[in-house]
Amino acid sequence: MRTLLALAAAATAALVSFSAPAQAAPHTIEPRPTNEVLGAKLKALAKQSHGRVAVRSIGATNEGRPVWAARVGHGPVRIQYVTQQHGDEPLGTPAAVEFLRTVGLPNTAWHRWLRSRVTVDIIVRANPDGHVRDWRFNYDPDAVPEFGEPGKGYDINRYHNPSLAPDDNPATEAGHIQRAYAQFRPHIVIDYHMQGRYVDSEGREITASVMWPTHPDVTPALVDAAKRVTVVAQQAIDRLAGGNVSQYPGGDYEGIARNAYGLRGSASVLLELSAIDDEQSQIRAAYVAMLAVVQTAADGSLNRVDPARADAIPPRGDPARGVTD
Ligand SMILES: [Zn+2]
Repeated sequence: MRTLLALAAAATAALVSFSAPAQAAPHTIEPRPTNEVLGAKLKALAKQSHGRVAVRSIGATNEGRPVWAARVGHGPVRIQYVTQQHGDEPLGTPAAVEFLRTVGLPNTAWHRWLRSRVTVDIIVRANPDGHVRDWRFNYDPDAVPEFGEPGKGYDINRYHNPSLAPDDNPATEAGHIQRAYAQFRPHIVIDYHMQGRYVDSEGREITASVMWPTHPDVTPALVDAAKRVTVVAQQAIDRLAGGNVSQYPGGDYEGIARNAYGLRGSASVLLELSAIDDEQSQIRAAYVAMLAVVQTAADGSLNRVDPARADAIPPRGDPARGVTD
């Protein structure tokens, strides 16, 4: 518990720039910036940070849009976040921009310490073509995909199979992510998605769901490492963002990023924000999870989390009444 209380205090201090105090006007975050606005925001962060946030394209989509990635920090612990593989699951993306702003712009001793301990590489909006159409898939209307929808495109998050070479990957953006992963070799990967609406056994709304790799060939040590990350994310969302986090009932397929990057040697976690009405609180939930994992990885407290606590996170429960997925 001491770890998490220390986490709460430090993360709250870092949050000041994002979470305005009650007496001040709240700082509203644009939940669905256009691809052009997103690119401009990232480039502005690179400039304002004097290069502490480094922005690059990891490749083009089928329609020629850049897939942006941004890196901050230069420490030995490597952490990769991925947002919006599914184009209609947007809220991890603005959270990533705010995270980069918080970690990359200020230059206090605390921020310099944090950046000396971790390197964070974020693929910000993995699916810009899907974002334009507000749909799940990439854009590849000629495809007849095993996973995806004919006439639309591929489900990017079914094409991360470790045996699938990036150059042979039919889902273009999944190939880009595979290459970025292989170059960076992160210790930790968190993939940000969104789900429908659910309630727990007492009828309280589930605000997010989390899961570690469930493919049977992921080593027990890496499953435990992923469970530690899961617990930190859950605690951050529950305690700092007023959330109610459950386990996510995901499958074992190796093409899902959560499983694929566990098989490839990372502590790999899925985080699904629920599609509740208060999008600002959901952006903040993703943001505090990003920050908490980075901070606990930086100070080493992540390694002291009991992975069994992940098993105690409650199951997701039923769909919320009157709400469709
Ligand atoms: Zn998704």
